Amino acid sequence: MNSQGSRSLSLYLHIPFCKTRCSYCAFNTYTQFDHLVDRFVDALCEEIRLTGAGANGYQVHTIFFGGGTPSLLTHGQFERLFGALATSYTLLPDAEITIEANPNDLDRAYLAPLRRMGVNRLSIGMQSSSEMELRLFDRRHDNEAVVRAVDAARGAGFDNLNLDLIFGVPQQTMATWEASLRQMLALQPDHTSLYALSLEEGTSMHNWVERGKLPAPDDDLAADMYDLATDMLAAAGYGQYEISNWCKPGHECRHNLQYWYNEPYLGLGPGAHGFANGVRYSVIRSPQRYIAALLPQAEEHSAAAFPLTPAVDEAVTLERDDEIAETLIMWLRLTHEGVDRARFARRFGVDLVHLHRSLIDRFTHDGLLQVDETSVRLTDRGRMLSNVVFRELV
Ligand code: SF4
Repeated sequence: MNSQGSRSLSLYLHIPFCKTRCSYCAFNTYTQFDHLVDRFVDALCEEIRLTGAGANGYQVHTIFFGGGTPSLLTHGQFERLFGALATSYTLLPDAEITIEANPNDLDRAYLAPLRRMGVNRLSIGMQSSSEMELRLFDRRHDNEAVVRAVDAARGAGFDNLNLDLIFGVPQQTMATWEASLRQMLALQPDHTSLYALSLEEGTSMHNWVERGKLPAPDDDLAADMYDLATDMLAAAGYGQYEISNWCKPGHECRHNLQYWYNEPYLGLGPGAHGFANGVRYSVIRSPQRYIAALLPQAEEHSAAAFPLTPAVDEAVTLERDDEIAETLIMWLRLTHEGVDRARFARRFGVDLVHLHRSLIDRFTHDGLLQVDETSVRLTDRGRMLSNVVFRELV
């Protein structure tokens, strides 16, 4: 809640289209759906309008276009979306507006108009500097494309860039991982996210491992890779503020912080998830069904209770205990600041340490949590065993 009595809100817009499918990807995204994109943008504008109609009392301080591949959208499609956002929501003048992008899509001609439309943060899927690994991932870019994309982004005026890398992948070695980290650091991003591979059923990579074409990921090697990254990033002046995220001072991703504080955010677009007004919900996954739900022929939608729309697939109103448990699990991921006890008490009316005294005493005694007057944080050991802590808190 700010001084005007408004709550800050974050918007996630899911663009569920990609040119090709990466071998490790389990996101809700589709290839060869070019014919649907324009109708999808109309539907997304409608979803923006419907949710915005119930969002009085909220001010939008972050917008994140994720996917999928948002950088497949044209300038005209982004203009329509920004038009709908501006007329439907109160956007704060300093709102953080991020677009996830494939390096191959980025040049000055594409980026400069986006910057003028208000996009002020780019998240570029670098993933690796090894050509062999990029081929294994079925990525459609090479390392040179990343270098050109970063150069184009800086040239277009972006001073807030994120680069993503993946580790713990079959056939990846400490040497290739170190080379990827060095190359990423040489490009001087303002923020970096390092994701451990999660081998998901239904992906090509999962099938290759199942059929013995690839070795299974090595968890011990992945842990060593994480340690190496932690050391190299600290030495390069990047602060770690979340389990998988590092940045230069002042470049924390405000959008992701909203998730980690479990503050209200709307997920718009097929398969997106949201949490606002005490309701956790997910949107229809299929782009065709999503479009059909939002663009019925010549039919006016009546307003549903915020944040629901005709495109919502499932919704549940959270009990207070569930909201507390979910909030703790997310908030403890903020490794540096941990859970701010005063902020927690303002929100839930109870001091965290009183609420979970026996559990917190045990985890403190076991060296997993660190507690002081202002915060409760995971220790380094607690970070490695965070699943144990999170499981017991639920
Ligand atoms: S570009 Fe991203 S969303 Fe698309 S298939 Fe690859 S990993 Fe998945």
